[in-house]
Amino acid sequence: MLKTGIATTRRGNTLYNINMTIDADSKKILSKARDKAPDWENIETVLLDMDGTLLDLHFDNYFWLQHVPLCYAQKHELSEDEAHQQLMQRYSDARGSLDWYCVDFWTRELALDIGQLKHDMAEKIAIRPEVVNFLQWLNDHHKRVVLVTNAHPVSLDLKMEKTGLHIHFDNIINAHDIGLAKENEGFWEKLQADEPYNKSKTLLIDDNLEVLESAHDYGIRYCYGIQQPDSMGDAISSKQFAVLSNFKEILP
Ligand SMILES: [Mg+2]
Repeated sequence: MLKTGIATTRRGNTLYNINMTIDADSKKILSKARDKAPDWENIETVLLDMDGTLLDLHFDNYFWLQHVPLCYAQKHELSEDEAHQQLMQRYSDARGSLDWYCVDFWTRELALDIGQLKHDMAEKIAIRPEVVNFLQWLNDHHKRVVLVTNAHPVSLDLKMEKTGLHIHFDNIINAHDIGLAKENEGFWEKLQADEPYNKSKTLLIDDNLEVLESAHDYGIRYCYGIQQPDSMGDAISSKQFAVLSNFKEILP
């Protein structure tokens, strides 16, 4: 890990630990936010998550927490409260497994055409700020840029079609092809077969702290989180990992 426990955050604000230095000439106290940038010279491969990292997680949260419960209530003739309650239980049972991310699984489980419902909501898919500039910088500096996502292929295709971000990636890895979710033990090792990488020269950015922990445990050297994955949601803080409010923070 590089810098740890850098940011204490609350919604809408970034509160950095401040390095205070005394300017001997002016005797003024200068404040400088601690630098989050890694040693780019040492980085060959950049692994990037999609939802909540490159794309605003608001689409997914809105879809699963509001739109699906509404459609489920209509389909099964339940009140919105009942539908919401039932779905939260089902979500909680599946969370952290590959099923949680599987469009086919939820289409079967809920008797709703999840792929079609996502298409219906596609106008809400949005790229997070500074993402395109960051990807372009990585491309210009000849880093190997790899999208590594738990998203189901149906969802991945829709999001690439909608955003056009695929042009920036050297490879796109889908956890469904690996057979494990990124937070599952063994994922990062297994990934080596499809995308060989030197873990001491690899940087990972992912909004899921469990994913960061699993990558860090495997030995991926540079791991970063995202401060506010859902633009309408709460900020995240981590004692273990630096969380980014903007990709500019890690550029030199
Ligand atoms: Mg994510």
